[in-house]
Order: sequence, then structure tokens, then C-alpha cells
Amino acid sequence: MSRYWSPVVHNLVPYVPGEQPKNNHLVKMNTNENPYGPSPKVLEAIRAKVDDGLRLYPDPQAEQLKQAIANYHQIDTSQIFVGNGSDEVLAHIFHALFQHNEPLLFPDITYSFYPVYCKLYQIDYQTIPLADDFSLHIADYHQANSGIIFPNPNAPTGRLLSLSEIDKLLQFNTESVVVIDEAYIDFGGDSAISLVNQYPNLLVIQTLSKSRSLAGIRVGFAIGNPELIDALDRVKDSFNSYPLGQLAIAGGVAAFEDKLYFEKTRQAIIESREAVIAELIKLEFEVIPSAANFIFTRHLQHEAADIAAGLREKNIIIRHFKQTRIEQYLRITIGTTEENNCLLAA
Ligand code: PMP
Repeated sequence: MSRYWSPVVHNLVPYVPGEQPKNNHLVKMNTNENPYGPSPKVLEAIRAKVDDGLRLYPDPQAEQLKQAIANYHQIDTSQIFVGNGSDEVLAHIFHALFQHNEPLLFPDITYSFYPVYCKLYQIDYQTIPLADDFSLHIADYHQANSGIIFPNPNAPTGRLLSLSEIDKLLQFNTESVVVIDEAYIDFGGDSAISLVNQYPNLLVIQTLSKSRSLAGIRVGFAIGNPELIDALDRVKDSFNSYPLGQLAIAGGVAAFEDKLYFEKTRQAIIESREAVIAELIKLEFEVIPSAANFIFTRHLQHEAADIAAGLREKNIIIRHFKQTRIEQYLRITIGTTEENNCLLAA
């Protein structure tokens, strides 16, 4: 607390990211990073940009990257907004599109950054409880709102909502923006990008941090109607005109061009996930069905906090949220085969 602070700062409840340990002997299964490195072509493209050209500012619109995303997803560049990680894209969305009179709606168990943005931008919100099995029921969102947002698959549960349910939600919710946060969609779901030409109030968010293994360069993007993209551009250009550096743009372009590497690594993660789930069930864990690169699980006899602490002693870090309804659950990021075996043995 300080008398120098703006009043809004006193009330902030900042997001707490998972630990990024200094010691790299740990098996790191706590922040849903990709266990495989980025594509070698991405590393090459970034290295090729390390020269005197770095004295110049990057392209404020990152057109090359937008073109690569447009080619990949078969859409127009006017339907794309890019930012410094999807967290920044989300922040601009909350600021640009959710400040209206009704409450913003999102699930009670979801990405814990959403309520943080609400505090920052002073947005009223209402959480909608997920069912006991953590499934999301769109009928619960049939009420006045200033917007609807949830991840699909949801975080930290990993549960997927079908595209046909999202389509139904968009049929009844036409007066406010619906944001589908697809940070993990490449690990097992169908993207709602296929619906953006049909619904002018739909925004789909994706990131290069997970399925493209580039959490370290911070690239995220939104896809939707140019009218929504325009709002995000207005906020961005009132905040930071150059959210993506030259190296991030070059790496991002190469990531979309190397489809083969992307397919190979995401398939490996999907296969490992299913293998880990099968083994955990044998060890008397109950596992929520996952379409992500992590699983959400509880043990039928042991306390989640004890398991997390026990694994930590064996140099394995996973995520435990001390939050109502999920205090007995653990979120575990899928690792390499070696890391997964280490987890199962521990
Ligand atoms: N959305 C969800 C659901 C996430 O879990 C994350 C990762 N913490 C993000 C968005 C943000 O990802 P990034 O900023 O790395 O793109």
C-alpha cells in the first residue's frame, strides 16, 4: 500500500503465474509448456534476424505474421489481431469489448487471469458453476451479459466443449461478444475459427506458447470480425504500438510454415497424454477427460497437497490450486516420455 498508488491499484489481486525455477534439474510439469523444443526452422529464422536490423522498430502491424496465420487458417489478415502472448490479447479484449452495463460471464473453474483483468478494468462479472463433472452447459449462459468468455478446452480441467455446442451458444447470444480462448485446442478439439465468418460477435484466441512450443517469445492472436479487430487495434495503439519484436515475428512466421514439425510434436503429446492417463488410473487416480496438453486429476485416497509436496521432494513440479471445489485436484503438464515415466515412478 502506498499513497503514491492510483486508487485502482489498491484493489488489484494480481495473477500468480506457476513457478519458473532457476534450477533446471527439475521435471517441470507445472505451466503447460511444450516438452519438445520449437521447430529447428523457427530457431533458424530467429537467428537469421539477429543482425544490425535490430536497431529498427518492428512492423507495428506484424503483417508478415498475420499473413502466415491467414494462410494457415484460410482467413483474411483483416480478421487477425496479434499480441505479446495471448495474455496481452486477452487484456485488450477485456478493455475494448467487455466494459458494458451487464456482468461478464465465465465459469467458476477457469483460467484465473479472467477475474484479474476484471479488477484491472473494473468490469462486473458473474461466475457460472460448472457441473459436478466439470462440464460446461451453455444453457446456463442464457442471460443478459456484457460478454461471455471461457477456454476450450477449459483450463485447468482440460474438458472440451463440442463445436456444435459453441454454435448453439452463438445462436442465442447475439448481443454481446463471445470469446473462445483456444490456448490448448490443437491437442484435441475442433477450432471455432470455422465459425467466425458466420458470427460477427465471435472472437477466437490462440497462442504459440503451447502447441508451437514458443512460450519464450510471447506470441498470441485473436481471430474474428474486422469490426472487433478494429477495437483491439485501437486499444493496442493507445497502449504499445509494437507489441511483437522482430524476433517474435520471424519465429512466429516460421512456426506456421513448418506444419510437419507441428503435427509430429502435437501427436506425440496426445499419445503420451493417453498413456499417462491409463497408468494413473491403474494407480487409483481419477482423471478428467482431457483434450489439452495437461491432465486434471485427483487420487482416491491421498490428499492433493501431499502428493504435490511429495513429488516436489523428488524434483517434479506440478500445479495445485488451493481453490474451492478443486483443492483435491492436481494439474499435470504432459512431458516427454522420459519425464512422464519419472512422474509415474514417483
Ligand atoms: N489462456 C489460457 C487458458 C491459458 O492457460 C494461458 C496460459 N497460461 C493463456 C491463455 C496465456 O498464454 P500466453 O500468454 O502464453 O499466450
